[in-house]
Amino acid sequence: QTPVPSDIAVSRAQRPNLVSHIAKDLGILNHELEAYGAYKAKVDLSVLKRLEHRRNGRYILVAGITPTPLGEGKSTTTIGLTQALSAHLNRISFANVRQPSQGPTFGIKGGAAGGGFSQVIPMDEFNLHLTGDIHAITAANNLLAAAIETRMFHENTQSDKALYSRLVPTKKGKREFVPVMFRRLKKLGIEKTDPNELTEEEVNKFARLDIDPETITWKRVLDVNDRHLRSITIGQAPTEKGNTRQTSFDISVASECMAILALSNDLKDMRERLGRMVVASSKRGDPVTCDDIGAGGALTALMKDAIKPNLMQTLEGTPVFVHAGPFANISIGASSSIADKMALKLAGTEQDEDHNARTGFVVTEAGFDFTMGGERFFNIKCRSSGLVPDTVVIVATVRALKVHGGGPPIKPGAQLAEVYRTENIETLRAGCINLKKHISNARQFGVPVVVAINRFETDTDAELAVIKEESIAAGAVDAVPANHWAEGGAGAVDLAKAVIKSSELPKPDFKLLYDLDGTVQERIEKIGKVMYGAAAVEFSELAQKKVDTYVKQGLGNLPICIAKTQYSLSHDPDLKGAPEGFTIPIRDVKMAAGAGYLFALAADIQTIPGLPTAPGYLNIDVDTETGEIDGMF
Ligand code: ADP
Repeated sequence: QTPVPSDIAVSRAQRPNLVSHIAKDLGILNHELEAYGAYKAKVDLSVLKRLEHRRNGRYILVAGITPTPLGEGKSTTTIGLTQALSAHLNRISFANVRQPSQGPTFGIKGGAAGGGFSQVIPMDEFNLHLTGDIHAITAANNLLAAAIETRMFHENTQSDKALYSRLVPTKKGKREFVPVMFRRLKKLGIEKTDPNELTEEEVNKFARLDIDPETITWKRVLDVNDRHLRSITIGQAPTEKGNTRQTSFDISVASECMAILALSNDLKDMRERLGRMVVASSKRGDPVTCDDIGAGGALTALMKDAIKPNLMQTLEGTPVFVHAGPFANISIGASSSIADKMALKLAGTEQDEDHNARTGFVVTEAGFDFTMGGERFFNIKCRSSGLVPDTVVIVATVRALKVHGGGPPIKPGAQLAEVYRTENIETLRAGCINLKKHISNARQFGVPVVVAINRFETDTDAELAVIKEESIAAGAVDAVPANHWAEGGAGAVDLAKAVIKSSELPKPDFKLLYDLDGTVQERIEKIGKVMYGAAAVEFSELAQKKVDTYVKQGLGNLPICIAKTQYSLSHDPDLKGAPEGFTIPIRDVKMAAGAGYLFALAADIQTIPGLPTAPGYLNIDVDTETGEIDGMF
């Protein structure tokens, strides 16, 4: 249709299939499906065991070039490509995407589920509560926050002995440790199982965590862009007896619990990771974990359903897993490993089938550009899951490449400048330097690259030809224009064919960018120099001090997530193209010991966004006759 109707109009016009039908077509058994209404369902992890013998489907990572603030269509391409593979080329194909946060939905960005004729539906259910995973994360995160505060409060008002007798009370004349306590005993090197046998010194060690309030890194979270919670004072009621403290909120998707949901390989792994989260240091300088506080089991209980992937569908009725959505600014910005593993089995083949002819695909997305999202996807997510993509798809647009070739900045809401509306080969060709750097970065990992040219109405054939030529010169297997935004899956059939061909190439010679043996500085420098094009990395005093502490605590050997702007390959959003020779300032380094990475801040990152004067919520209402939501998108 021309013109393409609004996203919500397209979504509404399509009647979704029942999720039970979609599940049946995928071979998911009745008892493995937990429906939440007619169009969403959780899928039980037992599927993984049942299909263990299968060969995995092909694993495709969609990443992008350095984008403009309008977005270059990664999500739209993820959906469009699976529609083409599934509905037009007859290969079972999953789009594995993140669950959006309600923050942006009611804030500036609006809902997100692809766009045009490549979308996840029903989009209102996708964008709001889904099956409650973010609420579960909020609950788990905040239980731990309350547990930390409470523990300090009780430690401040009681002797070691009194603490011990309350923590390990006498029941029917006997003291017994509860299971979580054995974790702490083990950490302290106390091998006893009978609480009555601890020496006085051991009792004191066990009972008092002695949290240094200055070192607490755990925050409360909320899935709302409530900027006034950026700095707060807690404990001001007289009942807290002066135990006040300055702290702040993050948006729920920035919680380490969310990163853990994305990275866990199974329920046991999730339990261990939640328990390992470091929330503070003791006054002696030891890391204090969630399990030291005794909350790891309870947090797992709150998140045990959240770990099951959520099945939804595209506009063309093809399957989608929506699962986890860690904040791309400070975390990996990718959906869950477990959904990928499950989809790879569901799309995979039996041992006696011709794999190349029959296998399906799992297409998943890494937030931001390849050099941030893709690098984290490989070095953090793949390192943890053991999965290796068969092909990387890099989404490019004519307009973003023109920005890198010297075009004026693009601002949301403003009219696009002339250069973006008419053919301009020279600016476009100059800007291809950005695409070429991303292609070469992706090829560093030993995985073939296909460029998807997300076609806009104003693009000319000559312009598309330039991108193709430059991509192939940079080592891409192919570069294919795709028109799935306007045409749905039919518009991405050529792209899908190129992806099939590329994924059948001899197994990728996969290698990660760095190993975990060297120093934290070496890892950060490797990313900065090889991926970003930096000449050097400079650590602030604070960053250096923090790294020294983590190393001393035995937590220095973790992969690195660098938090920086997505609008440049460098740390400076104004440096377009493929800049070189710059020095990246690392202001601070923080730790997510449970999720399993350190994050280095090369920018001042807001972890709870604010709302503009005219936020998205102003447009939203409910039609009280039909119950339908209006104005969300
Ligand atoms: P990203 O995932 O890279 O941020 P999205 O897929 O969310 O980008 O797309 C950003 C916006 O651009 C969406 O509103 C989408 O509908 C729109 N869009 C994407 N591709 C096209 C296209 N080819 N023509 C017009 N609009 C598009």
